[in-house]
Amino acid sequence: MKQPLVTYQSFENPFEGDPPKANVTKGAAEVIRWAYSQYEDIVYACSFGAEGIVLIDLISKEKPDAEVVFLDTDLHFEETYQLIEKVKMRYPKLNITMKKPEITLEEQAEQYGSALWKRQPDQCCYIRKIKPLEDALSGRKAWLSGLRREQSPSRQKTNFVNKDERFKSVKVCPLIHWSWEDVWEYIRLNRLDYNELHDQNYPSVGCIPCTAQASNDGRSGRWKGFNKTECGLHTAESSEEEKS
Ligand code: SF4
Repeated sequence: MKQPLVTYQSFENPFEGDPPKANVTKGAAEVIRWAYSQYEDIVYACSFGAEGIVLIDLISKEKPDAEVVFLDTDLHFEETYQLIEKVKMRYPKLNITMKKPEITLEEQAEQYGSALWKRQPDQCCYIRKIKPLEDALSGRKAWLSGLRREQSPSRQKTNFVNKDERFKSVKVCPLIHWSWEDVWEYIRLNRLDYNELHDQNYPSVGCIPCTAQASNDGRSGRWKGFNKTECGLHTAESSEEEKS
């Protein structure tokens, strides 16, 4: 019998505790299977980082024609766009949408001044990432994300299934128990394509202006010089100032 749908309004975490130690995907495959049995229109918001490549491979085993959305800010590295083309070749049934912001970079410069990311990165992320994802999730009950607990202190309490206050949705995160080494072992074993920038000391790759090389495996190369480690997709409501 099909389980009752977990919704934002009736949220109750269906996965408590850690997965069995012998579980080769640390619970990810089971959570993905559960997610697609629960939500027909669930979408994976993929940034095409190392975790994203792993999750796409795992998802495609369960749902070859899964919906994937990439937030195309118009500010990504050429290597990221090249990787997306390789993924399309390897998984031809995947339904990948390149979601653009409502305004172009030129319109943003006219309205907010040039290089908004240098002055108000939260505002820039709201326009070019958060609002587009809000639109992409409109009418859907759930989305998938590649968050891992060890990525940053703000992600340590992430569960497999989360009540997402930001998007009034259910956020499913199959990779929470994976380490950075697990991610790369999976990529190597399965000979997956990955962003070439990872080989040049960019562990986390986002928009060009807000991504720098880093010596560790975390997100220290993102938004350098700002007290900011998240674009806002995985935090609670953005401020009214960002929305203006
Ligand atoms: Fe703008 Fe930087 Fe956010 Fe990209 S990561 S949307 S450039 S502030």
